Amino acid sequence: MTLSFFNTLTRQVELFKPIHPGQVSLYTCGPTVYNYAHIGNLRTYIFEDILRRALERFGFKVSHVMNITDVGHLESDADAGDDKMALASKREHKSPWEIARYYEDAFFKDCAALNLVKPTLVCRATEHIAEMQAMVSKLIDKGYAYVVDGNVYFRISKFADYAKLSKRNLSELLEGARVDVDNRKESPLDFVLWFSQSKFPNQIMKWESPWGTGFPGWHIECSAMASKYLGEHIDIHCGGVDHISVHHSNEIAQSEGCFGHPWVNTWMHGEFLVLDKAKMSKSSGNFLTLKSLEEQGFEPLHYRYFCLGAHYRSQLFFSFEALQGAKNAFESLKNRVISWKLDPQKGAHPEKAADYLKRFNEALANDLDMPIALSILWEMLKDTSLGGKAQLDLMRQFDQILGLGVDNFEKAELSPEQLALVQKREEARADKDWAKADELRKELLGLGICLKDTQTGTDWYLSY
Ligand code: AMP
Ligand code: ZN
Repeated sequence: MTLSFFNTLTRQVELFKPIHPGQVSLYTCGPTVYNYAHIGNLRTYIFEDILRRALERFGFKVSHVMNITDVGHLESDADAGDDKMALASKREHKSPWEIARYYEDAFFKDCAALNLVKPTLVCRATEHIAEMQAMVSKLIDKGYAYVVDGNVYFRISKFADYAKLSKRNLSELLEGARVDVDNRKESPLDFVLWFSQSKFPNQIMKWESPWGTGFPGWHIECSAMASKYLGEHIDIHCGGVDHISVHHSNEIAQSEGCFGHPWVNTWMHGEFLVLDKAKMSKSSGNFLTLKSLEEQGFEPLHYRYFCLGAHYRSQLFFSFEALQGAKNAFESLKNRVISWKLDPQKGAHPEKAADYLKRFNEALANDLDMPIALSILWEMLKDTSLGGKAQLDLMRQFDQILGLGVDNFEKAELSPEQLALVQKREEARADKDWAKADELRKELLGLGICLKDTQTGTDWYLSY
C-alpha cells in the first residue's frame, strides 16, 4: 500500500515518494509564543500529528522538525503592525523572553494533553540568529535582497516563481500588500529579512548584524532552521492554509533564491477551524483554548476526536453542540474498550480483523481520510462476530494513528448513587447473601452498568 497526499504546490493528490528511500524529512511551522494556542491552531497540529503517525505506520523513519517563533512575527503575517512578542510583553508586564518561555511551555502542555507525538527536534528562532544572518547575507550577495536604512528586504521581482504556491496573480497579491506600505521597499510585495532599529527603536530582543542592530523578519527563521536540520531539499512542509500566500510563499522565495534549486517536494496545508463562521483568531476575540473547553466539561481528547471527524482539507465549524456529539461518541467508544478489556471474548470470525485493518490503512493512505477511518472504526465496533479480543487488538492498532489513548481507558465513572449500589453488593457478597447480591447486580444492569467480579474486587463497564 502506498501513501498519497494532496500537494498544494500542484493542487493534486500525488503518490508520495520520499527523496531518500525509507526516510522522510518533515518540517511543520510551530507556534508564535505570545499567547496560549487557540483551538484552531491546535487543529493544525492534530492534522500534522496524524500525518506523522501515518508516515511511521507506513514504515518511514521521520525526521520531524518544528520551530518556535519567539521573535520577529508582526501582527500581520506581512510586515505591518507591531511585534507580537513586544505587545504581549506590554500586556503582561513581563520581558519578551519570559513571555516566550511561558507560552512555549503552555503549548507543549497542550500538545501532551492532545497526545501529539513530539517532533524529533524543536528549535527556537532566537537561538538561530547566526544561521538567519548567513542566509540573508547570501541572498544579498546573489541579488535577491537589498538594504535600505539598515533594513534588509527580499526583492520579489528577482524571483519569477513567487506565486507558484498561492497560484494568485501578482496584481492580486500587490493589492493585498498595499496596506501600511513601507516606502523603503522597491515593491509593496517585498518583505523584510532583517529589521534594524529603523522599524522599532525600543525593541528589546535585538542582535548585532552587518546591517544594524535589530531582529530577523518572521519568514527567514523557517528557511534557516529547516535547512540547518533537514538539508536543502525537504520531503514535506506543513502549516495552516493561512500560510500559503504569504509565509510559505516567502519561505520558498528565500530558500530557492539562496539554494538555487527547488526546496520542498510536498506542501500540505490544514484548513481552518471556524467559529460562528468567522475566522478563529486571537485578535478577533473569538479565542477558545483547551482550558476553556475543559472549563465547559470537555477533555482535550474529546477535542482531538472532534477534529478527526473532518477531513483536514475541509473547514471545520466549531460549536459546543458538535463538541458534545464528539464527547458522546468518544465516551461510548471508551466504554466499549473497557468492556473488551474486562471480557475479552473470542468471536466467531476473528479473521475478519485483517480486512478492517486493511480498510482503515487504505483510508489513511488516501490523503489522511480520517472521517472514513472513523466510520470503519464504528463498523468494527458494531461487528460482534469478531469477538472482544480481536476488537480490542484491532482498536489498539487503529489507536496508533488516532491517538485517543485506548490503553489508558480505565473503569467508567459512576455517580455516587451508582457507586453506593456497587458497594452494597460487595457487602452482600462478603456476607454470602447471594440472593441480595444478585438482585443488586440486576438493578445495576437496569441502569446500564455491567459488573465483572475479579480476584481483586469488582470492575464494571457501561453496557450499550
Ligand atoms: P501561529 O501560532 O499564529 O503562528 O499559528 C500556528 C498554526 O496554526 C499555523 O500553522 C496556522 O496556520 C494555524 N492556524 C491559525 N489559525 C487557525 C485556525 N483557525 N484553524 C486552523 N489552524 C489555524
Ligand atoms: Zn514557517
